[in-house]
Amino acid sequence: MNAVRPAAPQLAGIQPYDPKYLPAEVMLSANENTLDVPFEIRREVEREVRRTAFNRYPDPLANDLRDMIAEANGLDRDQVLMGNGGDELLFDMALAWGGPGRTFMNLPPTFSVYAYNARITNTAVVDVPRRADFSIDEDAVLERLAQGDIDYTIVTSPNNPTGDLAHFSFVKKMLEISDTLVMVDEAYFEFSRYTARPLLAEFDNLVILRTFSKAFSMAGVRLGYILGNEQVLDEFKKVRLPYSVDAVSQAIARVVFANRAEFERGIDAIIEERQRLEDALNEMPFVTAFPSESNYILFRIDESRDAAVVWELLYEAGILVRDFSRAQYLENCLRVSVGTHDENTRFLEALESILTM
Ligand SMILES: *Cc1c(COP(=O)(O)O)cnc(C)c1O
Repeated sequence: MNAVRPAAPQLAGIQPYDPKYLPAEVMLSANENTLDVPFEIRREVEREVRRTAFNRYPDPLANDLRDMIAEANGLDRDQVLMGNGGDELLFDMALAWGGPGRTFMNLPPTFSVYAYNARITNTAVVDVPRRADFSIDEDAVLERLAQGDIDYTIVTSPNNPTGDLAHFSFVKKMLEISDTLVMVDEAYFEFSRYTARPLLAEFDNLVILRTFSKAFSMAGVRLGYILGNEQVLDEFKKVRLPYSVDAVSQAIARVVFANRAEFERGIDAIIEERQRLEDALNEMPFVTAFPSESNYILFRIDESRDAAVVWELLYEAGILVRDFSRAQYLENCLRVSVGTHDENTRFLEALESILTM
């Protein structure tokens, strides 16, 4: 028979995740660190990779890395779990805490991967939308949590793509009033220098997600981790792929993490440039920029202009930003990652000339 039976029914109508990554001279679409790992550190990485056996399976849990990260965070090895990028751990969370008959609370607009993972694992999604200024509707969230049927939720801080922080007094209330597993996604916390980590000592229903992809210039290497209590992490271990964190990535990450202080200057520069970008965007006609604590800025174009056309014209000028103009809650919005001083200048000049055409 030349036919194939249908895939699982929850996949019907789903579009595979598409980061809309296109080649461009100035890449400001994916919130990467625009500067690669510094040359000196890369030389050390090369030495470490040379010592790595390719023929043997890697340490499945990457214990050396867990120890380094635990020590840096004042935790034990059992409170750290590594993943193939933060994305793998987000998927594991949906596998371990979601599933048929279970419920995920989402706070849109936010990282689209969360709802996607819920959908493909047959997890019901309850949306508690943010307010018009993208701040979390804290009362609505707490009220919904108090109903007691939410199995897990994710609070992104700073939020992607809106750039705002979740206040940890609010996260603390979430943890106090329910036994829902609350993930605080801190993929960008290095740019806000604000972490929920102190709450870990007090609450078993908290996990914190971090990644090497953004501040540490390693989006191409695929490493993320969660911090949480041992019992919660044991459940993640049951669903994770045993060898998802390969030996080469482990070797690279050991060197980068040991040298993480070297990234501080670059992070400072991004924070400075972020302010310049925000100010310049707000001075531009037809643009409203939302304040950001991260390494990107979301901005809305006045409805007299079509942001999708602006996106296209920027792309024709060699500049790739992220188009959210047709996304729910983000009508006519674009997001620009903070690049180098020159990249940001080039973006600002192009945008200004497009808008004043
Ligand atoms: C980038 C990002 C992640 C993790 O990305 P990885 O590259 O898979 O580590 C997690 N959450 C948010 C909100 C992100 O933007």
